[in-house]
Amino acid sequence: MRFLITVLAAMLGLAGGAQAQTVYEFPEDEATAAFVANEVIATFYHELGHALIDVLQLPVLGKEEDAADHLSVILMNDIWEEDAAAEILASDATAYALMAAQREAGGEEPAYSDEHSLDLQRYYTVVCLFYGANPDARAELAQDLELPPERAERCPYEWESAAGSWDAVLADATPGGDNYGLEMAEGQEGLPLADLLAEEVIALNDRFGLPDLVTVQVADCGVANAFYNPEDRMITLCTEYAQNLQDMWEAD
Ligand SMILES: [Zn+2]
Repeated sequence: MRFLITVLAAMLGLAGGAQAQTVYEFPEDEATAAFVANEVIATFYHELGHALIDVLQLPVLGKEEDAADHLSVILMNDIWEEDAAAEILASDATAYALMAAQREAGGEEPAYSDEHSLDLQRYYTVVCLFYGANPDARAELAQDLELPPERAERCPYEWESAAGSWDAVLADATPGGDNYGLEMAEGQEGLPLADLLAEEVIALNDRFGLPDLVTVQVADCGVANAFYNPEDRMITLCTEYAQNLQDMWEAD
């Protein structure tokens, strides 16, 4: 009966946290699982950038997508220990390289009309920022990830510009007082992707307080995506997004 109700709800397209949902299980292969988990985290940080811009009504001078990419690298750098941060960054860069390769293999042009920067531009920007945050410790990583020396030279400045801008606008977004935080949607416990994000929510709530509650959910979307919806202040990580990351990694 429960099954029937769930199927009916899905057929009727009922929205909300209780919709029928494919359970994404991380693959047994450790490298694959780590890649998917790392990139889910990096993507979540990016979507959080959109959420912060919305609830804090931040001015965005330039592309919002770039600002969100910058916040993603800032959080990797600030929240994680060096080795783990470097792994997340490398996975993020790899995801952009795989997306670019997938597009090329499909005979597609780079997505010039997309609101995001091109996949390979995003690749070099995240590597540059991460390197620029700590050039002494990360020179080898930058070399492994083929950051050109001409770009590398300017990366400490790029980092300072990006981190300084975000720091300035987040100065008052501190936990406590009347501020809200992030919250997992109901009924998500036990979903491996949601459990992963729930840990991030805890870490981020130590860092940020927001004038509005932002909810985080894992859901089936019918498309490999992750997004923030300002109407219900919800960050959604699609199960298809994690599966697509795994597929790209395994096909490479
Ligand atoms: Zn975005």
